[in-house]
Amino acid sequence: MLSKEIINWYKKNKRDLPWRNTNDPYFIWLSEIILQQTRVEQGLPYYHKFIAKYKTVKKLAEANNDDVMKLWQGLGYYNRASNMLKTAREIAKNRQSVFPKTYDELIKLTGIGPYTAAAISSFAYNESRAVVDGNVSRVLSRIFAIDEPINSSKGKNLFEKIANEILDKKNPGINNQAIMELGALVCKPRQPLCDDCPVRLNCEAFKKNSIYDFPQKIKKNKPRNRFINYFYIEQNNTIYIIQRTEKQIWKGLFELPNFDTESSLNEFEIINQIDFKNMFQKSETFQIKKIFSIKHQLTHQTIYADFFKLSSSKKIKLINESYMLVDIGDINKYAVSRLFDKFLNYLNLHSNKK
Ligand code: SF4
Repeated sequence: MLSKEIINWYKKNKRDLPWRNTNDPYFIWLSEIILQQTRVEQGLPYYHKFIAKYKTVKKLAEANNDDVMKLWQGLGYYNRASNMLKTAREIAKNRQSVFPKTYDELIKLTGIGPYTAAAISSFAYNESRAVVDGNVSRVLSRIFAIDEPINSSKGKNLFEKIANEILDKKNPGINNQAIMELGALVCKPRQPLCDDCPVRLNCEAFKKNSIYDFPQKIKKNKPRNRFINYFYIEQNNTIYIIQRTEKQIWKGLFELPNFDTESSLNEFEIINQIDFKNMFQKSETFQIKKIFSIKHQLTHQTIYADFFKLSSSKKIKLINESYMLVDIGDINKYAVSRLFDKFLNYLNLHSNKK
């Protein structure tokens, strides 16, 4: 009954999104990875770029890591891109580039969790699996006035159980899309549009006038502060960059030589840091000036970045061989974080003013 109303509403009100007009599991998978923690408007151009450049999972599997990171640039959460590549290569190597069809097979792949496995198996193959994302749990918590936090493990199990119970077993794909769309367009996190909602007469939160009591969430820890010092060393139109390899934010992206400190430091303090001294040969002498500072917010970290310009009458050489000396004019060929991009914008604006 509930599902029928939501599906009828969906047929009349759904947005026309490109991944809804296909049963190809590769395209559905791409869209799902791109849309994780990303708004549809932001993800759409990336979806078009990826399907234009990598038309099949085989093509993606053959892609060069840096090219994929470059195409992903600006979308954030970069481990999604590297996991996506791993999965594509796994499918190419072990499955002759044929996407698995069932939830149980899909869930075994790298980077595919219960949500994505349910989405692909139900959208592409109509397998009877309920999709439970933030939108779905919010809608269900309000319809059934459930105060179990949606981000607790007990809450996740509970909402998955309810979603499967009310799933239209004959039309699981469209049912899943419909409830997600209801959450995105009507039962929004703030200010749900209850007057336009097809299930308001069955919605416990609406009937009790308590829509803002749901969903309940466990409060996450505050983002931690991080202080990163970057070193911009431009000589003869070249700069030093390095590719981040740690299993952290920005893995695989290129950035300026850098290190973290406990707080923001001035020029005098920075040159006395052991990490700074370890970057250069002992004999190096140069001028140092802090030229740009910016606060950059990520989900779990607040980054305070300071950019220092180093100059010298002699050629500055860094000790570590992982640093690459690249032509400043070629920097746009490398995948960089949004933070580094802000610095590059600053440099362009700055040089334009000259
Ligand atoms: Fe959400 Fe309001 Fe509809 Fe209830 S009536 S499901 S709170 S939009």
